[in-house]
Amino acid sequence: MTATRVDPELLSELKEYGDGQVETCFNCGNCTAICPFTSAEYPFPRNMIRLVQIGGAEKLKQSIDPWLCYYCGDCSQTCPRGAEPGEVMMSLRRWLTAQYDFTGLAKKFYTSKVWEIGAMVVVGVLVVVIALLLSGPVVTDQVELNTFAPVEIVHVADWIMAGMLVFFIAINVFRMWKYIMVDGMDRKVPFSLYITEAWQIVLHLFTQKRWAQCEEDKEKKNWNWIAHLLMVSGYGLMLVIIIFFLKWFQTDEIYPVWHPQRWLGYYATIVLIFGAGRSIIGRIKKNVQMHRFSHASDWIFPVLLLLVALTGIMMHTTRYLGLPLVTYYTYIIHLAFVAPMLILEVPFGKWAHLYYRPLAIYFEQVRAKAKAMPVAETQLASAD
Ligand code: SF4
Ligand code: SF4
Repeated sequence: MTATRVDPELLSELKEYGDGQVETCFNCGNCTAICPFTSAEYPFPRNMIRLVQIGGAEKLKQSIDPWLCYYCGDCSQTCPRGAEPGEVMMSLRRWLTAQYDFTGLAKKFYTSKVWEIGAMVVVGVLVVVIALLLSGPVVTDQVELNTFAPVEIVHVADWIMAGMLVFFIAINVFRMWKYIMVDGMDRKVPFSLYITEAWQIVLHLFTQKRWAQCEEDKEKKNWNWIAHLLMVSGYGLMLVIIIFFLKWFQTDEIYPVWHPQRWLGYYATIVLIFGAGRSIIGRIKKNVQMHRFSHASDWIFPVLLLLVALTGIMMHTTRYLGLPLVTYYTYIIHLAFVAPMLILEVPFGKWAHLYYRPLAIYFEQVRAKAKAMPVAETQLASAD
């Protein structure tokens, strides 16, 4: 386990990642007492706030706790000092995302609107330029999208993009694992535990089921959890279609309405608009705890999702109306929103939590099992 080093800049650094008021906390512990997700092993948010106060950056990097918080906001409502512990936990998730990221881009994006929006614009413009350079003949007497934008070329671009995503995510996840499971452990974890607990990643990635325990959400019939789940399903569906089934999805043939190619597209579009729209309206109204404070990254992602969905609908409509030029150019604009959303937001932005959170829950389980084993056994097992 790494020794604790004090970082005197940590408190001011964390201010760049959110609106928590760590300096006002006097460690009464009310927040931890009320939190529905806390435990003896992970007594957050007070332990995390204390670490920020004493500049324990190394210990924070080794912590799972911020990923176990679902921002129900109960702690912020009961804090007698207005320290906004829920918001501190949110800031710590952003901060951790930046610590895991070896490129430094996540830190740039979370601490500078100019960097995040500028990077989106640069990637979007690049996509437009490349799409225009590689585009095929412009047929104007009917819509021939696959002549203008041959699906084989678009598919190769998808695979390049997927390769980049895997590369960045794999390295950042490796760094997360090293901080938590190597630096943050006093013993070596047997490899077999990683295998036997791997199902946890799948379960929590696809269900986010711990969120459903949130009392505030339960009172509202779990709508936050359900809306998030629907949005993830739409986003995941589009990702799978784009990467693996684009030739089946991007066709010039107009299928009947019952065809899966159409209703899968409609499903993804509807849930993305619902989820993104709900998030944007919530942040405007600020009527739930998790929407009271909005970092720039909280706006950029749903707005981008909405633009992707709306340009998708527009392209679909103009194609059915038989408007070739509008369809082709709307398609390029659509790609200019899709590319930065995937290339920048997934590895470096808000959507990194999609895989960091289930991974953290997985690591929590592996750690618990490893700690329950006799020390000699864990060391012996790791030497195999
Ligand atoms: S954040 Fe608020 S509730 Fe929690 S320990 Fe500090 S003062 Fe108490
Ligand atoms: S926001 Fe909710 S889940 Fe997060 S620390 Fe506070 S009480 Fe716990």
